[in-house]
Amino acid sequence: MSIKRSRSISDNLNASKKRKPTNYWALGLLDTMKDPESIVMEDNLVVIIKDKYPKAEYHYLILPKEDISNLKQVDKEHVSLLEHMHQVALDLSKDDSHKHKNFKIGYHAEPSMVRLHLHLISDDMISSCLKTKKHWNSYNSSFFIDSTDICKELAIEGVIKLPTSEVCKQLLNTALKCHKCDFVPKHMPNLKDHLSSHK
Ligand code: AMP
Ligand code: ZN
Repeated sequence: MSIKRSRSISDNLNASKKRKPTNYWALGLLDTMKDPESIVMEDNLVVIIKDKYPKAEYHYLILPKEDISNLKQVDKEHVSLLEHMHQVALDLSKDDSHKHKNFKIGYHAEPSMVRLHLHLISDDMISSCLKTKKHWNSYNSSFFIDSTDICKELAIEGVIKLPTSEVCKQLLNTALKCHKCDFVPKHMPNLKDHLSSHK
């Protein structure tokens, strides 16, 4: 009896050693969700916050109040919640303060932060926080998955099939290209200069 118990404790210890620890910065959204300065709107189901490192002129995150870590944890029961997240994002995009702005609404295939979050981002992509190819491709390749597609897939399949880590790596490493024309920049500063021509 006692041997059995000591074995199971050591098994647990080994398992917890193997488990990847969550970096504390990956929990940052949980604090921002409670910060009145960052909250744009909330209701009984969701909170909308300003992205702390916006990658465009307007960049918001819509998070459920329910403790859902990411898209891998959602199932058919969450369809109405994800549809609600989409709707509040759409409503905010149409707010008077965003006149003449186009927005994208979607999820990153492999998010870095804990708590499910939907991005609402204006399509200018003009921001001092947008620095790397990875930043660019995370919004301008299929690494960024349209929220409408996610809602549809969840409603039909009951589960969301996400690209593998290997595919995500390739998507984030795709050669740079302007999202509004055929311009192929040499590097990020070149692309950032070019983006002002679409203003
Ligand atoms: P993702 O790659 O989908 O996990 O995106 C996480 C988003 O959270 C990025 O757009 C970051 O700029 C943003 N972000 C990171 N830390 C914070 C924070 N503490 N508060 C608000 N937004 C954050
Ligand atoms: Zn262009």
